Order: sequence, then C-alpha cells, then structure tokens
Amino acid sequence: MKFDPYKLLGISPQADMAEIRRAFREKARRYHPDMGGDKALFLALKRSYEELCNRRAQRSSLKVVKEPPRTGNYLLTFLDLSVRELAFGGVVSVIVPDKSVVCPRCQGRKVDPQGRQSICTLCKGKGVLENRQGEVIPCPRCEGQGKMVVDPCPICRGRGRLEREREIEVRVPQGLKPNDILLLPASPEGPPVDIYFEIQVHGHDRDNFIFKEGKLATKVRLPFWKVILGGKVQVSTLEGREEIEIPPGFDPATTLTLPKRGAFRADGTREDLLIYFEVYFPKNLSPKALELLEKLAQILEQEEKDDGSSQNGG
Ligand SMILES: [Zn+2]
Ligand SMILES: [Zn+2]
Repeated sequence: MKFDPYKLLGISPQADMAEIRRAFREKARRYHPDMGGDKALFLALKRSYEELCNRRAQRSSLKVVKEPPRTGNYLLTFLDLSVRELAFGGVVSVIVPDKSVVCPRCQGRKVDPQGRQSICTLCKGKGVLENRQGEVIPCPRCEGQGKMVVDPCPICRGRGRLEREREIEVRVPQGLKPNDILLLPASPEGPPVDIYFEIQVHGHDRDNFIFKEGKLATKVRLPFWKVILGGKVQVSTLEGREEIEIPPGFDPATTLTLPKRGAFRADGTREDLLIYFEVYFPKNLSPKALELLEKLAQILEQEEKDDGSSQNGG
C-alpha cells in the first residue's frame, strides 16, 4: 500500500500546519504505545507528521535579502529565533496572513444585519428618488429600503471582509545574524503577499548569548572568589552547556575563544565563539559566610599594612 500521510492523519491535502499538528497530537495520544496503542500505527503517524512538516517547509525556504523594497505591497514583521536556530537553521513555524474572505455575518455589507436602523437621509425614508429627467429611481444610498442599518458589523468591524491568519512551517538557512532580513515570497501555498521577516534573538537566549560586532559571544557570570582562586565554570555553547577551567588570579576583562565553535558563515564554516566574563558579588550572604569574609578582610588588611610598612622601611 502506498504511504499516504494525509490519509493516515485523516486530513485533507489543503490542511494548514495547525490542522496537521492538531490531527497528529490527537491521533498520537490515542495510539501511543504507552497508552496501549498500536506501535506500528504510532510510528506511521509520526512518520506522516514529520514528512508533512518537511514537505511544507521545503516549498517555503526563506532567503536572506539585503532589505525590503522601498515601495510595493508587502508585509514586514519580526521573527523570533533561538540562538541555535540562528546558527543551525531549520524548520520553524510562522504566522502569515491568509487570503481575506467575505464576512459571513454581513455578507460584505459592512453593517450589522440585526443592528439599529435609521431613516435614510437621502430619500427621507421614501426609498425612491426622482432623477434629473423626472424618472423615479430606487434610492442608491438605502437601495430602495428607505431606512439603513447604522451599526457596523461586529464580526468584521465594518470592513466587510475578514483577514485570516494561518500558521505555516518554513525553513530558515543556517548562519543567520540578528537583524538579518528574510523573504518569504507570496505563493499559492504560502502567504498572499511577500513577507519580510527581521530576525530577532529569542528573549531567553539574550541572557546567555550576545552578538558583538556580528560575532556570537557567550556570557559567563563569575563569582568574585573564582577570579582569585580559579576553578570550573559553566559556559553556554551552541552544543549545550560545558565546563571550562579558570586559572587562579584570572583577569575577568579577558575574552577567551573556543575556536570554530561560534556562528556559522554562509559557506558552512564556523567562526570562533567568544567568551566574556561578568564578575558578580552575591547580595545576601549567610551570617557564617559574612563572618568568614570579615575575618578574611582583617587578615588581608593586616597583610597590606605590613607590606606597606616593610616597603616604606626599605
Ligand atoms: Zn461583517
Ligand atoms: Zn434612501
């Protein structure tokens, strides 16, 4: 039997990404092996879902462009990506406008069919007018009704049409930088107008990663004692968190690099990952820690004094 992902998921080939995902979730829940479902069927569903995601994404690959055109009918919006998505590229879902449809409530007439009515001011409620030739014609404003609805349609807010949105999967290239502009061209399967996306870094990642002069850098918070004593610290990299060793007496103004572990270039090679340090001083120390710190301060101050007097004494 031919593999038909649409049939397996029970959806039409016109289904959008949200429908595909909904159908998969629903069926996956029902046929999950952990819930006593059929394992072969579950795997087939999973394969169907992945296959459809891939197919949708393939036909809408986003390309980096210099900037949107100065004129023309297009949409400019933001696309929030994680630092890993920026680096490696991949499939992400975006919300795009759909073709607008005639409002089902007012049938495009822009007014609420059940709204309040008032006498037509043009024909004064007669529904008819006399034109210059003396002929009686239906009033063009109230269309011969003599009265008019005054409330705008509450569904389309008086626009007569509904603007729909839908979710589609797109493929973003690897090696993106913040503020890069990507183009998703209008297409029958995609949005009705060209969409330009300006790339932004996901809020969560802004805590750990920064882009400095276009280079990917990771921030490491270093407690003050490690500056003196050295030790192991955790670093966020594109491959996950890892440990590096800081030598005793470390200068926190130093920038370290992990060679070829940074952002991707368009040709697939990689830049170095920069590591910046930020020294921090904990605000709420325990009484025990404070006590020891005071003792330490006394020792250090005494040593400085001794040092100073021995230097003065020659
Ligand atoms: Zn309407
Ligand atoms: Zn009228």
